[in-house]
Amino acid sequence: MTNKYMYFIANWKMYGGLNSLNSLNKVIKFSKSREIKKGRLIYCPPYTLLNSFFTKFKNCLIDIGAQNCHQNYEYGPHTGYINPRMLKNIGANYVIIGHSENRTNGETDKLINKKIKSALRSKLKVIFCIGETLAEKKNKKTKSVLLKQIKFGLNKINNNSNLFIAYEPVWSIGTGRIPSIKELEQTIRFIKNKFKKKIPKILYGGSVNPRNIKDLKTIKDLDGFLIGGASQNPKKFIDIVKKTYN
Ligand code: PEP
Repeated sequence: MTNKYMYFIANWKMYGGLNSLNSLNKVIKFSKSREIKKGRLIYCPPYTLLNSFFTKFKNCLIDIGAQNCHQNYEYGPHTGYINPRMLKNIGANYVIIGHSENRTNGETDKLINKKIKSALRSKLKVIFCIGETLAEKKNKKTKSVLLKQIKFGLNKINNNSNLFIAYEPVWSIGTGRIPSIKELEQTIRFIKNKFKKKIPKILYGGSVNPRNIKDLKTIKDLDGFLIGGASQNPKKFIDIVKKTYN
């Protein structure tokens, strides 16, 4: 049983419409029960649903975040984009940056670094995703890849108070496969050791589900989980949270 303050971040990716709002009732009820002893639930729906989720969660302690943002702090002529101040303005407190699905679409470490700086300046908490591909893992490059992502992604960022690092092995996202617990413990320790001053909060993401949470929760250095697929099913999401504490 964990006694630690844990974060459960639901990444809904490009799923959901207004008809998904009803599915949140169970989670709202659960959030008001005493079963979440210490911790926080955060939903990151698509931009189109942020305002509806904000309204829906008005009387409970569930927070909202976005799945990405533009790198500019200033407003400007960038058709189709949303800057972090706009997110803060509509009630978001978190933003995911550097997700592998966006890195694959061309986001570089340099761009990610700009986004993180701009989001922190906008007083958002940043969930910064890092992780190696299967080929990198097979070539024993995991540590060097993570190191590079951290070094350049966090270049000239000195205050880690509002920073979460989500370790998400790319080969684990949406595949049902997760690293061994021993491997994960070592990697999480490796990430933590790279910080001399304040260590950011560390999350694990990649195929977290109600079955593997029993093993994942034994990793003492983790502050929570980034949950994709399973978070769209309220029963599974609640189960993951419950099992983390029991
Ligand atoms: C994610 O994409 O952030 C994620 C964790 O996905 P899944 O849980 O579906 O692997």
